[in-house]
Amino acid sequence: MNPEDILKEIAEQTAVCTRCQLKHSRKMAVPGAGDPHSEIMFIGEGPGFHENQQGLPFVGAAGKFLDELLAEAKLTREKVFITNVVKCRPPGNRDPQVEELEACRGYLERQIVAINPDVIVTLGRYSMAHFINNGKISSIHGRSYWFNGRMIVPMYHPAAALHQPSLRSVVKQDFSKLPSLIKKAQENRRNNPDLVAMSQVELEENLPDENGTEQLALF
Ligand code: URA
Repeated sequence: MNPEDILKEIAEQTAVCTRCQLKHSRKMAVPGAGDPHSEIMFIGEGPGFHENQQGLPFVGAAGKFLDELLAEAKLTREKVFITNVVKCRPPGNRDPQVEELEACRGYLERQIVAINPDVIVTLGRYSMAHFINNGKISSIHGRSYWFNGRMIVPMYHPAAALHQPSLRSVVKQDFSKLPSLIKKAQENRRNNPDLVAMSQVELEENLPDENGTEQLALF
């Protein structure tokens, strides 16, 4: 199946999914949107009120800021793929729970394989935790990790920057690095077609110490 068909199938499955209790707070599932062939994928946390109404990711206040951030990286929504770790709205915008993350994990994994991006940007800690178990966002934001053949770049969630204005310039600066990181990831994949995937355990062993001084992964 081509990426378009796989993403369509996932969208249809999430719309009627009963794998977790979020089925009760779902008006519309939010499987994700954007270019099925994009070189870069953004993964947020979960749909909020507006996303649940419209079935589209990041259409509220955090989404407006995300558009600004994409512009910093010379990107637009049409050129990227945006999704979340959970596809249905947690009631009252609470954090997603372990069982919900687990229930939704397969959808995200299938989306990643179908889109096959060079770079995955995680937005916030739940998305970061999908790849990096004990990472500390304040030390590792904007840095690049090589994992399962792809570059992972953990970023602060746009909503965090809305609540804490001092983070705005930090996040903008992190996003402005994306064009060169995409290039680097593409070169790496081209030059190392059989690049050995780093396991989660190896990645965790390479996480920075408390002072964030240790260098990570392959970069
Ligand atoms: N916050 C998220 O993490 N995802 C959305 O889709 C909207 C807000």
